[in-house]
Amino acid sequence: MLKFFGRGSAFSDDHNSAYFIENDELVLLDCPMHTFMRLNDLNLALYDHIYVLVTHTHGDHASGIGLLIDLLQFSVKTPLTIVAPSKEVEADLFYLCSRIEGCSSSWYELTNAEELEKEWLNCVIPTHHTEELEGKCFGYYLTVKGNKVIYTGDTNTIVPYEKYIESGAYLYIEMAAYKTPVHLYCVDMRAKIKEYVSQGVHVYLMHMDDERRIEKVMNGTGAEFAPLERGGLTMEDTGRMMNGIFDITDSLYKDMCMNDSKDHNLLFSYLTELSKTIVGADRASFWKWDKRKGQIWTMSATGIDKIVIPDDTGLVGKALRLKKTVITNDPYSDPDFNSAIDLQTGYKTKSVLVLPVADINGNFIGALQLINKSDDRGFDDEADPKKLSLAALMCGIALESETFLEESHHDKLTGLKNRMGFYYDFGGKYKDYLIPDSGKKMSVFIGDIDKFKSVNDTYGHNAGDDVLAFASALIEGCCGANDSVYRWGGEEFVMVMRDTDLDGAVRKAEEIRQRLMEADIDADGNTIRCTMSFGVTGFDPSKTIEENISVADEGLYTAKETGRNKVCIAGA
Ligand code: GH3
Ligand code: MG
Ligand code: MG
Repeated sequence: MLKFFGRGSAFSDDHNSAYFIENDELVLLDCPMHTFMRLNDLNLALYDHIYVLVTHTHGDHASGIGLLIDLLQFSVKTPLTIVAPSKEVEADLFYLCSRIEGCSSSWYELTNAEELEKEWLNCVIPTHHTEELEGKCFGYYLTVKGNKVIYTGDTNTIVPYEKYIESGAYLYIEMAAYKTPVHLYCVDMRAKIKEYVSQGVHVYLMHMDDERRIEKVMNGTGAEFAPLERGGLTMEDTGRMMNGIFDITDSLYKDMCMNDSKDHNLLFSYLTELSKTIVGADRASFWKWDKRKGQIWTMSATGIDKIVIPDDTGLVGKALRLKKTVITNDPYSDPDFNSAIDLQTGYKTKSVLVLPVADINGNFIGALQLINKSDDRGFDDEADPKKLSLAALMCGIALESETFLEESHHDKLTGLKNRMGFYYDFGGKYKDYLIPDSGKKMSVFIGDIDKFKSVNDTYGHNAGDDVLAFASALIEGCCGANDSVYRWGGEEFVMVMRDTDLDGAVRKAEEIRQRLMEADIDADGNTIRCTMSFGVTGFDPSKTIEENISVADEGLYTAKETGRNKVCIAGA
């Protein structure tokens, strides 16, 4: 409910500084120097009014008030109300503010919590801190976006707050790593904090003197650190983000080194995860653009199922069409936004960033899409694309090499895998079948179109091409889930059938032979028929791949020698 510019104690350069926004009004809790320095992260001119709720008048909590008065007076012009927790503190604040040289009391309004009527202010909570501030130190009990919020300010006791702490409430509690008489000591508070969390209280720690020590002590309680919300990143935020990035790249590197399955999706899912982490988004997806088919599809996506859509639709399509980054923090008002997924799933898209991804020649080949920036402010059109460029570069190179690999493994005429694809698969999906005595069975055939040269000679090369394409489609159509077919050479095809014995392989070759023989083929306007001969063998893992193909070839040779249009077994 509250956002924090800083969550450190006394002299920290990251001093505790919280705010919330309600009905276009900005409410600051205290105004240390640190608040003033961070206000640039918010566009102050956007707010109708600014309130500062003061908990006590220690310099580390009130030292920025004078500067805030000046800033609003001379620059932003948004009206300011300083709210003291009591009449007595109001008098102190009046004294302080009126001693600022040149500062007129007309530049701000000073009031106290008793007199201020605001729906978000329930009451102040008197507490104890230093002796000098006895009776002058308070916490606040607020309602923010309909939620109960307790803000302790500085305190050395939790007792006055206890009656407000209940299930569903948000407790922002000061916490100290070192024992002093003026703050809440984390070791003493641990059990209580754990109990609050178990009761359903949202506990956030703030005003901390040593986050690391507090983190150790509070580990396992369920309490969280107050959420920092601001444009600039601290060294610590940067460190945490870099760590997240390196965790992903480390896993990616290790998995790539042992990617036995040759599953490229793994690479793309890591890169998608990386882009999500880099910009801090809720969802990410990586899209490939097939210009020929006019389609874009998700190679990898977090949070949604993979989809294929026409390339002239959606914000991804828009980014590729415009050849530039598309950012919207109000997607429903963008006519290119496709709300169908939201409608189906109940998810609410609030912000979208699409970064087109190029190959090394500068051609766009895909896009990264990030959805819902984790802070509610949406994507920044400078900072986020800049951060994302790291993942986009890696995605571009990875996709280009994957596409290149795919193309080099396929034959353009028939669309079948070629001999390179064949050897690639032997390094991957057939690996287990190459181990002698593994008990895994695999069979192979080689098929060759009969008298194909005469097709070319009689009807021309284009007709020959049509016959090759027809035969390829027919053979591919006969492939089961465990079968793969390759264009071995000119009019020769190899089929590898996993978990299939010799009988099964012979049946498969017979089926293809029969179907081809009976087919009327449209070959460049001529209706022709052709036949095919086959050599079949059971794969022998004690032999090399080439030796196995040679055995099948012997069967093919026999088929050709004994009249063609037949299936012959070899090496059985
Ligand atoms: P056999 O029954 O003994 O196999 O006789 P064949 O005529 O089929 O065998 P041969 O090896 O003599 O001829 C194969 C022909 O296939 C020669 C070559 O020009 C042709 N060919 C190879 N690749 C292609 C191609 O991509 N398109 C076309 N149209 N023809 C091709
Ligand atoms: Mg032939
Ligand atoms: Mg041949």
